[in-house]
Formats: sequence, C-alpha cells, structure tokens
Amino acid sequence: MGTSDLNILLIEDNQADAALIDMMLDEIGRELFQNYSLKRAENLAMGLKALNRESFSVVLLDLGLPDSSGLETLRRIGENAAHIPVIALTGLADEEFAAKAISMGAQDYLVKGKITGDSLYRSVLYSIERKKSELLLKDSEEKFRAFFELSGMGALQADPRTGRFTTVNRRFCEITGFSGEEILSLGFRELTHPDDWTEDSEQYEKMLRGELAQYDSEMRYIHKKGHIIWVHVSRTLLKKAGGEPVRILGIVHDITDKKKMEREIIDMAHHDALTGLPNRRLFIELAQFEMAQASRNKKKLAFLFLDLDRFKDVNDTLGHEAGDQLLKEVAVRIRRNLRRSDTVARIGGDEFNLIIADITRAEGSAETARKIVESFRAPFLIAGHELHVTSSIGISIFPDDDENMDTLFRYADIAMYHAKERGKNAFQFYNPSINLHSAHRIRMESWLRQSISRGELLLYYQPQQEISTGKMVCAEALVRWNHPKMGLLQPLDFIPLAEETGFITTIDEWVVGTVCNQVKSWTQAGLPPVCITVNLSARLFQKAGFASLVSAIIKETGMSPGSLDLEITETLAMDNIQLTASQLRLLSEMGIRISIDDFGTGYSSLNYLKRLPIGRLKIDRSFIKDIATDPDDRAIINAVIAMAHNMKMKVLAEGVETEDQLNFLRQAGCDELQGFLYSRPLPIKKFEELVESGG
Ligand code: C2E
Ligand code: MG
Ligand code: MG
Repeated sequence: MGTSDLNILLIEDNQADAALIDMMLDEIGRELFQNYSLKRAENLAMGLKALNRESFSVVLLDLGLPDSSGLETLRRIGENAAHIPVIALTGLADEEFAAKAISMGAQDYLVKGKITGDSLYRSVLYSIERKKSELLLKDSEEKFRAFFELSGMGALQADPRTGRFTTVNRRFCEITGFSGEEILSLGFRELTHPDDWTEDSEQYEKMLRGELAQYDSEMRYIHKKGHIIWVHVSRTLLKKAGGEPVRILGIVHDITDKKKMEREIIDMAHHDALTGLPNRRLFIELAQFEMAQASRNKKKLAFLFLDLDRFKDVNDTLGHEAGDQLLKEVAVRIRRNLRRSDTVARIGGDEFNLIIADITRAEGSAETARKIVESFRAPFLIAGHELHVTSSIGISIFPDDDENMDTLFRYADIAMYHAKERGKNAFQFYNPSINLHSAHRIRMESWLRQSISRGELLLYYQPQQEISTGKMVCAEALVRWNHPKMGLLQPLDFIPLAEETGFITTIDEWVVGTVCNQVKSWTQAGLPPVCITVNLSARLFQKAGFASLVSAIIKETGMSPGSLDLEITETLAMDNIQLTASQLRLLSEMGIRISIDDFGTGYSSLNYLKRLPIGRLKIDRSFIKDIATDPDDRAIINAVIAMAHNMKMKVLAEGVETEDQLNFLRQAGCDELQGFLYSRPLPIKKFEELVESGG
C-alpha cells in the first residue's frame, strides 16, 4: 500500500527519541512510503502552530511534553486537528494509560523503546485508515440527522447493547408523544407494545449477530398518553471498521391511519353494511370459536335461525328503502334481547343467525327466543307506517343435536321452517322427526314446481244440484296432481305446500285458464251449457291486476263470463275489505259470479258481506255433518239461510252425504247442495257423460 505525500508531524521533546523515529522512518520509509516528509515540534505549542500552518497525514504525539502532559495534550490536539489521526507515544510502564489515550481519540499508540520500523509503519497506516472510517461514520450520522430533521420522518439512534435511545429527532417525539429528554431514558422495549416484543427482539438479535444488516417491521408503539400507535420502523446497525457495533439508526413512520383503513376494509368484509352486524363469514369464525370454547368448558350452545315473516310483503308494498329501514330496526331489537356474550349476524335477506353462549340446559335458550319473538309484538315505525312484522325462530343445540356447525345451521333452519308451518310468530327446537318431514317437503316443493309443465295437474268436477228441481246447476273444479311416483294426490296433500311457497297462484291461474278452455270447447261440441266454479286462493286474489288477468283469460278463450263462478273463502273476503270489494265489483261487472266458500269457518259478519257483490254462500261441510243430531247446527243453518235470502244470496250446502241431511235442508229452504249423495268429484270423461245425459 504505497501512499504518496505522507506528511508526518512528530511532537516530541526528547531529542534521542526523535532521532530514533527519524532513523526508523528513514529506514523503512524510502521503500514503503514513496514520498514522505517528517516535521518535528519540540512542545505542544509548536506542534499546534505547525498543525495550523500545514496539513499533516498523521501526528506522532509524545504524551509527556514540557508544556502539557497526558490526556490533556491529546484533548488539545483533538480540538485543533480533529480530522488528523494521532498515534500516542508512551513510556515503557504506561500501557494502561495508552489504552485511555485510545478511548480519548487517539487511533493507536506505540511504546517507546519497543518501536520497530515494522510496527511504526503498520501503526501509521492503521491510524490513517481508522481515522478515515471514524470520520465517515461521524459524517454519516450528521448527515443522517440533518436529513431526517428535514424529511418529516421520525429518526432515532440507539445504543445497540442496551437498546436505549441516544438521539431522536423532533418528528420522532411528535409520533411517540415523549419529549427529547424523556425519550433518553427509554429504549425500544419500553416503547413497543408487549404483544410485539417477541417478534421484534428476534429480528433485533439477528441484526446484532450480523445475520441481518438491516430490517423493517410494522409494530405497535405505546404513545405517551397510553394509546396504541402503529409504526413502520427500519433499523440499520452501524459498525466500526473492526465489526464492533456502534449505533443503531432507525427511521420511524406513523402508519396508524393506514392501519385504521386496513382494519376498516377488513371490517367491511366481515360486516353487513346495512345493520353493522357481523356477516355470514365472520359469524362462521365466531361460531367456531364459541364451539371450541363450549366443548372446553363442557357447556352447550344454542344456534338460532331467525327469519322474518312476510318480509317480502313489506319490500313489495313499501319499497326497498322501507325494507332496509325495517331490517335495521329488527337488528336493534334482536340485539337488545341478547347478552354481551351472545352473537348475532345477518346472513342474508331477512335471515339472522344467533348464538346463545354458555347455557347449561337446552331450555336456557328458549327464554331468549321467546323474548325476541315477543319483542316483535310492538309495531315497527317505518316511513310513517306502523308495520306489524313477526319472526319465526328455529333452534338447534350444540353438542346435543350435532357437533358439526353446518349440520347445526341446517337443523336450526329446518326447525325455523317448522315454526313457520305451525303458524309463524313462534320458535321451535329442532328434533329428528322434523328433519324427515322437511326433507320430504323440500323434495315435494321442487316436484310441485314442475307439475304444470309436465302436465301432471288435472281437474275433477263435482256437480252441484238444485234441491227443488234435482237438476245440476253448476260443478266445482277441483284440482288433482297425478304424481309420477305417488299416484293421484288430493288437494290436501299439496295445496298447503303450494300456498306456503306461493306456487298456488300459478296453479290457480292454470285452473282458471283450463276451465275457460274447457267450457269453450264443450260449447263448441254442442254440450248443454254448464257453469263451473273455481277455487281461488287468497294469494292470487291479492295480486294486483288480478281482475284484469281473469278478464284477459275470458276474452282469449271467448267463453261466456256467466259460466264462471269464483269461490273465495270468507276469511279472504274479510281480510282486506276495501281491496276485495273493488276487485269483486270489477269481476261481477264482467258477469262473473262470486261465491263464499266454507262459510261458517271464518269470522265474517253477514253485515260486511252485504257490501260485496256475492251471489251465493256455501255452508261448510262441518255444519252439515251433524245436523241430524246437533240442534245448534240446525239453528245456525236456519238462521244463515234466512239472512242470506234476505240479502238476495243463494245458499248451497257442502258435503251432503245422507237423505236425512237432504230432507232437513230442503225443509229449511236451502237452494243447492253438493256432496257424495248427489255425486263425487268426477274425472272429466265421467263428468262429460253426465252433462250429455242432462244431469
Ligand atoms: P272446497 O272448495 O270446500 O271443496 C270441496 C271439498 O269437499 C272437495 O275436496 C270435495 O271432494 C269435498 N267433498 C265434496 N262433497 C263431499 C262429501 O259429501 N263428503 C266429504 N267428506 N267431502 C266432500 P277436495 O277436492 O279434496 O278439495 C279440498 C279443498 O282443496 C277444496 O275445498 C278447496 O279449498 C281446495 N282446492 C281444490 N281445488 C283447488 C284449486 O284449484 N285451487 C285452490 N286454490 N284450491 C283448491
Ligand atoms: Mg270450493
Ligand atoms: Mg268448501
């Protein structure tokens, strides 16, 4: 390593020592330092003067000078020539003292009397290199500080051995809330959230061991005020030339806002935006947690499946906004009946899932379910309307019913349907018999939906007789389902299911259309005119534009409206008297006749019925059955007939099976009858034969 222009300053009062050094330099210098010069100063004052005038590569400094001695000499040199490396020259017995000199800023030392050409040469080179790297380090630290003071990032320096902060900038204080002074008594550990200690110290150790030069981490700091802040910290380890760790430099960003946003995004993915409740995804996670917890503590859990009754009606009639508003209110009402430890989630539409935690007996959840169902008693105030909305709840119990979450959900769902079937506004525990029933039900439903397109529905016709003449006046169309596997099914086997699923409206439309076509083709075939009565479900009747639908069918088929009689049940007629009245008026203006079916089973008052264009009352079979034996039934029938006649309505008795019944009805003045006594419901061929023969 040849160095050109090596200027050496020797500050040495002892003439002999100086000559020795000069000689040794001369010896090795010629070949090793291509071009060197040696100046000598005899005391500190002269040395300082020389340092002022010229620039030197290195100073050889005797620590015992006439005008200064020891470490003081070193300090004075350091003050005046901070950038020049110093080699201390000490006496024989003073090695300990020499070590101190190094810590005071000398780069090396040589012991007088032991100096060789070789050691002198190495010491000069070493000192120069060492000073260079010290200066670089110092320079980089200063630059570092200046840069970060300006950049707006938090910056810190810390002692690698203790992890304590030695310097921090203003921004770092702002981020952490501590003053520059306070921070000096703290270190990484005091600032870091305990949950992040383990991970951070692993990285830290790696860096100290030299496995990492630098590392970045996102972690939580505790702000002076006690709240959590999220920071991004980059740390670098600065080492001395010899590899010894000197300092840790760190850059700190406050990423609390970013983390908050991340959290919000995660929250959004886990919560239902409308109600703020957990969504299905989060609910599944919570459920798994609760199940693990429960089995550990040998406790039970209740899974509740809640579904609003007739939510669709609210959406359809008042619009989606009102529907949304209702769901929000519902969420609040459910929540109010739960304990903190319980969980509720909206898992779609008007469906809510709940977990009642920590119950010892299955019945423990019944109380909560009952409270929720009852809390729906009070109307919901939505968009100026008082809405009466009820709910149905199904309950399954972990681990009694099953230990699998999916199965438990399904069971609760099945139980909920059962609660609805039993009249809604109720809760129901799962039990295995429901399951069978529901599996059957679900299969039936999908079959039923295909029944029309597959041509499996057909109509039977049951004649109705005029009592005074014995003639057939009309016939009732009664639907049957020729099921591919189960054979001919009666209405009782599938109408309730069709009612519940809404498919009944499709069936009824099909019946009206089929009947109209049938009557038309009978007329064309020259059969005597016959009137047909058709049963209408409340569902179809409540459909907007129902009357115009019927009139369209009649026009399309070209049948005479007078041949059509529509049967509606009295409950339907009473349900929404305003709507019913206007629809019925439209129909009767077309010439269609209206009958009240199953009269006596509902709560209608004849006074109300008076307002409707009704041509006929059909007294329910249950009143006819016992007329031979039950005087009350006879009294009722007499009264109904009298009042109906008073209101210009005809009366038909349903389910007449015996001569005794007929005799009573005839004598009571009943107009018509329908029943096995006269005829059972007939398949179409048989019925056509009957019509041809003139009834
Ligand atoms: P409903 O309208 O009261 O029809 C009369 C029911 O009484 C028919 O039962 C008939 O077979 C039965 N019946 C008639 N005479 C007697 C008798 O002397 N003794 C006994 N025990 N029963 C008699 P079906 O056909 O099983 O229909 C049952 C119910 O299903 C009907 O009662 C009606 O409410 C409903 N239904 C039938 N067809 C349709 C339809 O196309 N649409 C709608 N929405 N409902 C229908
Ligand atoms: Mg009927
Ligand atoms: Mg009836």
